[in-house]
Parts: sequence; C-alpha cells; structure tokens
Amino acid sequence: MTFPATILTLYPDMFPGPLGLSLAGRALAEGRWSLDARNIRDFATDRHRTVDDTPAGGGAGMVLRADVLAAAIDSVATDAPLIAMTPRGKPLGQPRVRELAAGPGVTILCGRFEGFDERIFAARQIEEVSIGDYVLSGGEMGALVLLDACIRLLPGVMGAASSGDDESFESGLLEYPQYTRPQQWEGRTIPEVLRSGDHARIAAWRKHMAETETRLRRPDLWERYDGVRVQSPSGARRLMKDE
Ligand code: SAH
Repeated sequence: MTFPATILTLYPDMFPGPLGLSLAGRALAEGRWSLDARNIRDFATDRHRTVDDTPAGGGAGMVLRADVLAAAIDSVATDAPLIAMTPRGKPLGQPRVRELAAGPGVTILCGRFEGFDERIFAARQIEEVSIGDYVLSGGEMGALVLLDACIRLLPGVMGAASSGDDESFESGLLEYPQYTRPQQWEGRTIPEVLRSGDHARIAAWRKHMAETETRLRRPDLWERYDGVRVQSPSGARRLMKDE
C-alpha cells in the first residue's frame, strides 16, 4: 500500500528535498509513499503563464489567482483530502497527522506571495492547515513538515514499531526524559530507577515524568489531558526537585 502525496506549488524542485533522505527517503524508495509535485504555473492560460495579480483594493504584494489554482486543483484525480497551507488554518496537531497517515493520501496546496484569492476556499473543498503562529514565505516548508509527520507513521517506516506510542503528544503528554550511555558524564548520572531493571518501576517513573514535563512546560496540554494521572501536581514538583 502506498500513500500518495500530491503537491501543488510554484517550486516543485523543493520536493522531495529533505524528505528524500533518512527515514522518509528510504520509505519513498521502497514505495511506501509516492510524490507528485505539480507546478501551478503549468495551469496558467495566458502567454506569460501568469499565476498572480495585484490585490483588489490595493496594497502590497501579489495574490494567487483563483482560476489558475482551480485548474491545478482540478487536475488532481484522487480522493485524498485537499489541504491548503495557510497561517490562519487550523494548527496542525498529532491527532490530525494520525488521521491523515491512516487515510488515502494527501494533496497539499502551497501558497506564495500574499496568499490565495479568497474565492478558491468557497469554490473547492479545502481544509486550511497552519504549522504555527509565524509567517513563512511559502507553503512548501509547511507541506514538508506535514508530510514528514505523516510518513513516519506509515506502516513499516519506523524501525521499532513501538517507538511511536510513547512519543510526545501521542497520549496527550510530552515524552519523559531519555538517557543513554555513558552512565557517568561530566559528573552527572542516569537516574537510578532506569538502571534498576524493574520494568514496573520504570514505567511508573516515566509516566510520572511525562506528566511533570507536561504540567511544567505546557500547562495548556496538561489542562486538556484526560488520562489517568498517577500523581498529584505537588508530588510532581517534589520529584523534579529530587532528580
Ligand atoms: N498574507 C498572508 C501570508 C502569506 S505567506 C497572511 O498574512 O496571512 C505566503 C504563503 O506561505 C501562504 O499563502 C501559505 O501558503 C504559507 N504560509 C505562511 N505561513 C504559514 C504557516 N504558519 N502555516 C502554513 N503555511 C504558511
């Protein structure tokens, strides 16, 4: 089974870019996902292959034309969801990433300049996604981020199949702290419990630490977290101090 990704962009050469390397690159070579990067400019109809024009009402920059965007969108014959990268879109989160990775693929529309003629959103079924509260110069980096997050979840892509479950955001918590050899480094040691071989104690410690990290670093996530808490917030604070 392959996960088809179609990208509509003015810069198809940006793909696969970093997704041609490492985990995603290997998965691409193995056919676990496929890439079809189409140049929006190929759907312009005039002699100069114009894709943008000045904003109606005046102002700086250029706006991508709805008619050209529609032609690009309509050229894609898949039942995969169509996502436009926009700063005003719904912030991307792990739950949506998981849904997308389990679905029939994804088509991603990348903006440039001042963005899209608003009418495209009324005329086509488009989900708007943001990758954070900052402004990029184009949607391509956002598309790479979204794709990377999906690809690592595809069957057979991640080495140890289990390494997904404990990760940050999967349970609504951040991940617990990780350590590896050497056991002593610059006078610092690995927490004793992790060397105890007592799997129940280790699991309890990790849950405890995941909760602590989440509560301290991301009160917004902690607020929404509805899992069974193994500790009271005051207990978490005590543990942090002891470590
Ligand atoms: N004028 C727009 C910004 C355009 S930035 C505004 O003020 O909202 C140009 C393009 O970059 C956008 O069309 C979008 O595709 C992409 N982009 C910029 N920031 C983004 C973000 N945070 N998330 C997703 N895409 C973004």
